[in-house]
Amino acid sequence: MASNRKVLMLPGDGIGPEVVGQVKRVMDWMEKRGLAGFEVTEDLVGGAAYDVHGTPLADSTLEAAMASDAVLLGAVGGPKWDALPFEAKPERGLLRLRKEMELFANLRPALVFDALVDASTLKPEIVRGLDIMIVRELTGGIYFGEPRGIEDLGWGERKGINTQVYTTTEIRRVARVAFDLALKRGGRVCSCEKANVMESGVLWREEVQKVHDDEYPEIELSHMYADNAAMQLVRDPKQFDVIVTDNLFGDILSDEAAMLTGSLGMLPSASLGAEDEDGRRRAMYEPVHGSAPDIAGKDMANPLATLLSFSMMLRYSFAMGDEADLLDGAIRKVLDGGMRTADIMQKGKARVSTTVMGDALLDELDRRAA
Ligand code: NAD
Repeated sequence: MASNRKVLMLPGDGIGPEVVGQVKRVMDWMEKRGLAGFEVTEDLVGGAAYDVHGTPLADSTLEAAMASDAVLLGAVGGPKWDALPFEAKPERGLLRLRKEMELFANLRPALVFDALVDASTLKPEIVRGLDIMIVRELTGGIYFGEPRGIEDLGWGERKGINTQVYTTTEIRRVARVAFDLALKRGGRVCSCEKANVMESGVLWREEVQKVHDDEYPEIELSHMYADNAAMQLVRDPKQFDVIVTDNLFGDILSDEAAMLTGSLGMLPSASLGAEDEDGRRRAMYEPVHGSAPDIAGKDMANPLATLLSFSMMLRYSFAMGDEADLLDGAIRKVLDGGMRTADIMQKGKARVSTTVMGDALLDELDRRAA
């Protein structure tokens, strides 16, 4: 089928190729069924790229990513590359991709599937039906701010420095992503910072409020200090719809929200860049988990986080909401039917491999499309 959907696959290291492999099967299924065509290319990233090119992200791979409509990444890293210098580490490849593609908005849904409600360490009544979205600013803030470094003060004393910096533009563009998502969801945004102790937090609060008042008055906007948000997320997570926050707080709050769902193998993410004149947004989709070297190559990995990331790609890069719903529904059904990879195994359920989970999903898709 002819396609204008250019997808770059970067399976990466460890379990990356195994979980991305299941997405390829679903893409093939969609093509065969005439639902969608994709122009897929595949390349190396992380340790796999370092082994071939001596760098975790070759310039040619970056160019391919820039020219694609969406990137699907598996995972990077592993003990084989742990001793490499900082700039050559697999994770640097991922950070460079995010930076060069200007992926400033990281979307992390925290969704609790009914079948997995007991996987959470929180009481079922606290998390049942949970469906929140955390939007984390990804290219600014303290992880990139200057000055940074470690200074030798000269008398056996050293100083470590990082700087939290945000501009109006950076705050406004990520706020708009959060408001746009809220329009399609529950209509509520909670913005989190530490305006009580940080000037950058004061600016963040003021700018988010301005974007709201000028452009999204219909959205219910609240502001919360990030430390309180951390508490509220475990006390009563369902009070939230969309949370928008900076890079540092987003890193922490999104991991905390992730654990409400109980399983790393179930967590998708999307990272979005600015829209160009044609309305095309650079975008990368990836599971939240890492390369899981302890189970790599054993056909044990849970592919659902990557499949759910692909579903986000369909929804946010290709406006294919119906196909995304079809895939999400099939995943839900397979879980309801009792299929479990080892990481989400529960008593009385069927423990299956990565491949068998993929088989079950394709069977369910077949049933739904019949
Ligand atoms: P990890 O997410 O790889 O693994 C943590 C634990 O969760 C392991 O026990 C693993 O077996 C399990 N797990 C993770 N994903 C799973 C899945 N899909 N199915 C079943 N079990 C799963 O985190 P880690 O062990 O801290 O890091 C391993 C490597 O991955 C490191 O090199 C780290 O730097 C890298 N890492 C990469 C990314 C990324 O590519 N985005 C993210 C985190 C860590």
